[in-house]
Amino acid sequence: MSVDVSLAYDDQNIFAKILRGEIPNRTVYRDEWALAFHDIAPQAPVHVLVIPTGAFVSWDDFSARASEAEIAGFVRAVGQVARDLGLTGAGYRLLANTGHHGHQEVAHLHVHILAGKPLGPMLAR
Ligand code: 5GP
Repeated sequence: MSVDVSLAYDDQNIFAKILRGEIPNRTVYRDEWALAFHDIAPQAPVHVLVIPTGAFVSWDDFSARASEAEIAGFVRAVGQVARDLGLTGAGYRLLANTGHHGHQEVAHLHVHILAGKPLGPMLAR
């Protein structure tokens, strides 16, 4: 079920709870701007989510409201996580589902890092 990302940020969303340490996660990276952790239901051999530490509903919200420092810090963190996981050579896929048609399920911006095998075409046909 996708979320309505036109709504204001809800600090009870599951990733807000993970950020506050109220729900456990398998962290792979954390800095001032981002937290990265393994997806609970991996869809590839490597499936990590990277989320900003700030309260942003979606890619749309983040790109419109985040500061330059938040954007730079988050984008650099995504790249750093991929390097830390050793994914650069073989490659990886980034995915940021946004809104209803994007099938976004959690209303806190997250970028999926998918890797570990050839991932095939981008969308199921
Ligand atoms: P979306 O469809 O919003 O782009 O992706 C949400 C992702 O969050 C899904 O891949 C789902 O498996 C993952 N997810 C949902 N709840 C949890 C959770 O409590 N912990 C972790 N680690 N991942 C979660």
